[in-house]
Amino acid sequence: MERVFNFSAGPSMLPLEVLEKAGKEMTNYNGCGMSVMEMSHRSKEFDQIIKEAEQLFRELMKIPDNYKVLFLQGGGSTQFAMVPLNLMRKSKKADYIVTGQWAKKAMQEAKKFGDIKVTATSEPDVYTYIPKVSKEDFREDADYVYITMNNTIYGTTYPYIPDTGDIPLVADMSSNILSQEYDISKFGLIFAGAQKNIGPAGLVVTAIREDLIGFAGPEVPTMLNYKTQADNDSLYNTPPTYSIYFAKLVFEWVKKMGGVGAMYQRNLRKAKKLYQAIDDSKLFRCPVNPEDRSLMNVVFVTGDETLDKKFVAEAKAAGLVNLGGHRTVGGMRASIYNAMPEEGVDALIAFMAKFEKENR
Ligand SMILES: *Cc1c(COP(=O)(O)O)cnc(C)c1O
Repeated sequence: MERVFNFSAGPSMLPLEVLEKAGKEMTNYNGCGMSVMEMSHRSKEFDQIIKEAEQLFRELMKIPDNYKVLFLQGGGSTQFAMVPLNLMRKSKKADYIVTGQWAKKAMQEAKKFGDIKVTATSEPDVYTYIPKVSKEDFREDADYVYITMNNTIYGTTYPYIPDTGDIPLVADMSSNILSQEYDISKFGLIFAGAQKNIGPAGLVVTAIREDLIGFAGPEVPTMLNYKTQADNDSLYNTPPTYSIYFAKLVFEWVKKMGGVGAMYQRNLRKAKKLYQAIDDSKLFRCPVNPEDRSLMNVVFVTGDETLDKKFVAEAKAAGLVNLGGHRTVGGMRASIYNAMPEEGVDALIAFMAKFEKENR
């Protein structure tokens, strides 16, 4: 079978040339006679890989010098616990904006560790928009404010970075990392599970402002303490070596494509034409507030569940796979991360037009 256009929300499509390069280097990396998977994490070869990965990530995301970049394990969900365990430094209070299931899960996890306030939520409207908040909405003594920058399931994204004043802002960027440029200095901590825009699942990349490190209590497990990870340059224990190597290949690819700014222009083009096709259609509609629409996860419905299922099945037969919405919301979702080529979006738009004609 030929490769398909994979619209999965995650794990998701990766650039073919990256997969091929990893394939070529699988059994013998750089002439050293072994796979990266077989290599000591203390070897000089791996030391170079992890240093280059960090350097590239810093360059691509313009991470300021006073931030540590960490390669951790346990996916995005482990950060839901690490954030409160480490960042509840004084009042043990944190304010959360709940814009979807991932934000809600993070909020519920944090409740185990401190006093959590939901500052705003779009749950009553099925998370179809991003609430507007301002500095005055947050508790003055909150240790941090938490947001999910891009809501993978509901197809929304923040069109702005909330102003939290002096309160550190924490952002889950799992599904929008490397997709557009952000002023990282506005955040105290960002993290991203790798399986959407970076590489293999399990790995999570975190950037944390240095002055926020070192506040975890003695009861916090060693591995869940950012200080352990920062002091040991992510090598306290055996890190997910192959995933870090793979992430490095993806970072190299993003750089070769022109960097995150160029990626953003391409993502804008892809998303714009897909939303345009949905808005112009008489069969499909997008439930998301136009100004909050995600460039990465495009959600749409026909309004008829049976027809939605038919669409997903027929699209699959046409080589456009994983277009079903999240199991909890149904409908359709096209995840068009960095690695989805423009031709994939064009093929989807053409298929939608054909389906509409046949099912009017
Ligand atoms: C996928 C996703 C997660 C969960 O990541 P895991 O690696 O499965 O724990 C968290 N947040 C967002 C925004 C996601 O898209």
